[in-house]
Amino acid sequence: MATSNLWGNELEFRRTVLSVVLLVIIVAGVIFTINNWIVGHRVLAFVELLVVVLSLAILAIHKKTTNLKLWSSVFLFALYTVILIGILTASFTSALYSWLFIVPVLSYLLLGTQLGTIYSVLYVLSGCGILTYRHIVHNPDTPVIAIVNIALTLTAIWALSYTYERKRAETVKRLQEMASLDPLTGLNNRLLLGSIFDMLCETLPEKQKSVSMVLVDLDHFKKVNDRYGHGVGDAVLVDVSRIINSMRRRNDCAFRFGGEEFCLLVPDVTPSQAHSIAERLRHSVEHTLSAEGFDAKMTVSIGVARWPENGDALSQIYKVADERLYKAKEQGRNQTVSE
Ligand code: GH3
Ligand code: MG
Ligand code: MG
Repeated sequence: MATSNLWGNELEFRRTVLSVVLLVIIVAGVIFTINNWIVGHRVLAFVELLVVVLSLAILAIHKKTTNLKLWSSVFLFALYTVILIGILTASFTSALYSWLFIVPVLSYLLLGTQLGTIYSVLYVLSGCGILTYRHIVHNPDTPVIAIVNIALTLTAIWALSYTYERKRAETVKRLQEMASLDPLTGLNNRLLLGSIFDMLCETLPEKQKSVSMVLVDLDHFKKVNDRYGHGVGDAVLVDVSRIINSMRRRNDCAFRFGGEEFCLLVPDVTPSQAHSIAERLRHSVEHTLSAEGFDAKMTVSIGVARWPENGDALSQIYKVADERLYKAKEQGRNQTVSE
């Protein structure tokens, strides 16, 4: 489904960034480990080896894990800690401090704006503090201008990374809304049906595992357009969506399927409760619809089906609900058929 793909793409983006970073850190880590072992910094070499092993482990699971953010946080915690240890022990001429520049970039790309800011503040400020302490307070020979340049470059990279991630997240959110919401009524559109149905089926506790589908179609809606015009037709659709929205419980999900067909997914109710909900909805449209410019009565026909009784797959549930809706139309409209 297009929308679930969009959510998937967001996760895929973070997975790709993580895998690239892990590969780079594994290569760099191996080089550092060998070098530090040779020059006799055995403890540092051992710590770097641990980061390499952790990176390899996360690389192995990063495609399958459902908790990518947690693993990214663990990885960055280990990586940044080693960077700080390096800055604390290495000489200024080794330029090890330049690893600080990737801190805001990685934090925002992997963790998003909120957690990214926390990590950036924590580690960039710690890194700058260590640099200042070691190379200005304790070594007056270090050119102050070098520290100023490092601080300014870090600030620029930090600001750019934050702005990039914020704008990227806003754009993705807007695209997700555009792809998932019906622009006229603001209800979920049909593209979301599959992922929401799956989510409801998966998250319900074993004893409450049922999802009822209430499929609603306006009766003789074409006549509304013909008699009152498309604008009033739209207002009627918006008012029906308002009624559906006002009736649904917190966990019920409402959809507009395009045209004048609506759907309500109702988890954890008995067949007779689902029928009553459908009947209340039908009654409410008939008696409380108040679209501007529309002075006639609007009725709806409704078909109700239920998972798992009417089939395992969403397509089967929809087929049964649609057949019952068709039956309601055939039997004279303005009624609910639930079996
Ligand atoms: P039935 O009782 O058998 O369902 O008859 P109906 O007229 O409701 O159904 P039909 O499928 O013949 O016509 C549906 C109409 O819905 C045709 C189309 O012009 C109208 N429609 C579809 N989408 C929109 C929309 O977004 N706005 C408006 N105003 N009308 C729409
Ligand atoms: Mg209709
Ligand atoms: Mg229709």
